[in-house]
Amino acid sequence: MKIVFATNNLNKLKEIQSLLPAHIQLLSLEAIGCQEDIPETQPTIEGNAIQKANYVKEKYGFDCFADDTGLEVGALNNEPGVYSARYAGAQRNDHDNINLLLHNLKQHSNRRAQFKTVIALSLNNNMKTFTGICEGEITLERLGNNGFGYDPVFKPLGYDQTFAEMLLEDKNKIGHRGTAVRLLVDYLNAK
Ligand code: IMP
Repeated sequence: MKIVFATNNLNKLKEIQSLLPAHIQLLSLEAIGCQEDIPETQPTIEGNAIQKANYVKEKYGFDCFADDTGLEVGALNNEPGVYSARYAGAQRNDHDNINLLLHNLKQHSNRRAQFKTVIALSLNNNMKTFTGICEGEITLERLGNNGFGYDPVFKPLGYDQTFAEMLLEDKNKIGHRGTAVRLLVDYLNAK
């Protein structure tokens, strides 16, 4: 069974491939000749993941899964959400995004937030989604150098380190993406 993972990040692809049985072969976007940017124009994280998986199925004919992730901050009406990558502008700069987030939260005492990853799987003409959520809070300043994106200012509930202070393997055990991937892998392993 061949399934496209709508990514060109081969590390991500290999990691998930290693968790799957041998009869499931994952293909990257490059491997199927998809070089264009896949549209992500939906107002929700789930909608964007579904849009990407549907795009590959409709245009290339392969079963496919796609992921989308966003940071939702309660005091900011769940922003940046689908705009997480480009919160401070189209240049998609992590440093600017964090500055804007800290600025916008200055007046708020409630700093609760969550990361949400949705993986949408288009398989045999059925759509199924797998959601991973990690609850936490936004710190007052950056802490740690690991990871990417908002990791330096996100402290998961029950921990006294930010994601950027944790080892990647520890982040993956409790993180949003790890949870969604485990749900997907469990589902595919039962196929
Ligand atoms: P994507 O859907 O995985 O491309 O994520 C969209 C944006 O959300 C990224 O550009 C980051 O700004 C942010 N993001 C996603 N996952 C993480 C994470 O694990 N840590 C910190 N930021 C993240």
